[in-house]
Amino acid sequence: MSTVTKPRAEHPRAEGLAPRLVYNGGMLDLLTHGDFARHRRLRRSEGLRRLVAETRLSAADFVYPLFVTHGQGVRDEIPSMPGQYRISLDQVGREADDLRTLGVPAVLLFGLPAVKDDEGSEAYADGGIVQDAVRAFKQAAPELVVITDVCLCEYTSHGHCGVIADGEVDNDRSIELIARTALSHARAGADVVAPSDMMDGRVAAVRETLDDAGYVATPIMAYSAKYASAFYGPFREAAESTPQFGDRRGYQMDPPNAREALREIADDIDEGADIVMVKPALSYLDVLSQARREFDLPLAAYNVSGEYAMVKAAGAAGWVDEQRVTLEILTSIKRAGADIIITYHAKEAARWLRDAR
Ligand SMILES: [Zn+2]
Repeated sequence: MSTVTKPRAEHPRAEGLAPRLVYNGGMLDLLTHGDFARHRRLRRSEGLRRLVAETRLSAADFVYPLFVTHGQGVRDEIPSMPGQYRISLDQVGREADDLRTLGVPAVLLFGLPAVKDDEGSEAYADGGIVQDAVRAFKQAAPELVVITDVCLCEYTSHGHCGVIADGEVDNDRSIELIARTALSHARAGADVVAPSDMMDGRVAAVRETLDDAGYVATPIMAYSAKYASAFYGPFREAAESTPQFGDRRGYQMDPPNAREALREIADDIDEGADIVMVKPALSYLDVLSQARREFDLPLAAYNVSGEYAMVKAAGAAGWVDEQRVTLEILTSIKRAGADIIITYHAKEAARWLRDAR
């Protein structure tokens, strides 16, 4: 019997026919014996399944987002994000040790300033909370990749991602401050800066500002397709960054749009982004997958706070198997095309992956 794969046209399904079953002396016999695929052969054991897995999740895929705050000995659990904390800088060593032990290569830092004002001035202060946190992390773990979120919303009294003029977020004045913020992070030693504001032209402004100051080697991870999503709810509690008026739909993307996401990503690449991102992840896996096909750059996906909170709540209620659901979600994000997964599950997922080996 030939083992050569049959041409598609000879395959029963290619002709729209299912294998026919014929009743034959008390036994069901397959007329098309051997003429259909035995997909189950490679699913028979854990070893076989692992051997043929198309997607392999690893701790090396993860970036761990962290909220840093002023003070001493602060380790405040965020109520809507069980297991996640706002930490003061004396806790940085402990976090760095955890991440090193677990093989998680990177953090993404968000800051809670001492005071907020109209122009978000702590965002770009050399002694700001994120700038100090960058220095603390680089001292505690020089090999850890320190990525900084570059935005104004955690620092402005009104909670918007830019400067307000005439009741609106002023694009061009905002990108000046965004670029200044990125530069102050690079000066503090950030390995990657990540503008998340969704102003037009911010990547170009950040690139130019960094280059002019001699930081030509600092990469930009752009939040390129960032949607105005209700899944950010718990984050806003964590970062105390809920807009005091209006919402962010005037600058973040509208959830129904996918083609527009590709234009946003293409523009960020033209402006000098080194890594592009889709945020949130789960409701936007189609966007991620399209971006993967369209662009060669490293692609990041942000598995956001609301996605985390839902899993935690359902897990705590005993409605889902939290570990399996988490790993399935993270695998789906990677399968859709993400090279980098920013996730609050990073540490626990890394631990589960290690223990499963
Ligand atoms: Zn923002």
